[in-house]
Amino acid sequence: MGTYSRRRTDRQRLDMVEKQIRRRGVADERVLQAMSLVPRHRFVPKAQFSAAYADCALPIGHGVTISQPYVVAMMTEALSVGPGIRVLEIGTGSGYQAAVLGACGAEVFSIERIPELHRRADRLLEEIGCGDIALRLGDGSRGWPERAPFDRILVTAAAPDVPAPLREQLADGGLLVAPVGDDWLQTVRRYRKMGASFEYEELEGVRFVPLIVDSGEGSG
Ligand code: SAM
Repeated sequence: MGTYSRRRTDRQRLDMVEKQIRRRGVADERVLQAMSLVPRHRFVPKAQFSAAYADCALPIGHGVTISQPYVVAMMTEALSVGPGIRVLEIGTGSGYQAAVLGACGAEVFSIERIPELHRRADRLLEEIGCGDIALRLGDGSRGWPERAPFDRILVTAAAPDVPAPLREQLADGGLLVAPVGDDWLQTVRRYRKMGASFEYEELEGVRFVPLIVDSGEGSG
């Protein structure tokens, strides 16, 4: 990419952070800084390049989307992440959310069920180098038991409830952020695990693609 293009995407990204994210109330400087740095245009298909910094979700193939920038920022802020925090993400998709978490200093574990998306994200994150990120192919509704417990869990696909393995793999005192609802409309909930209690507060209305629970296991 030439210098002019890089300058243009840098400017678009700073505009995105100021106009779409900070103005809507996201105040965590770590999140704002991460989203100013991660090159979102690298995570969208070439056909979507000109819309990479637009205020909307975008298709990335296989019927799934990269989330709207504001939603990524809002959920990352709700998760309260920083250096040394172990985060499990369900739904790697393009890898963009994982890159933002990595740029916040978190140790990231992310699971995707679609092999092609998993491979693409793996290559891209390796190339860009957005921090400490491990990817896995498989059904994320089962979590990643070998690497549990996690300080934080972020689900980026919608489900009517939080799968039991994810509740179990969250550390005591940990936070889990997820869009909960039906296929059409969900609310982002932030759960806090305290001993046997798993209380939540509701944050904002959103619309995510569904969390697909696979039968059989093909993770590696
Ligand atoms: N976080 C992604 C990003 O930054 O591009 C966007 C996530 S997209 C809205 C939802 C993703 O969840 C899709 O890639 C979909 O394939 C994945 N997904 C759905 N069910 C899943 C499951 N059971 N395990 C893992 N990934 C799943």
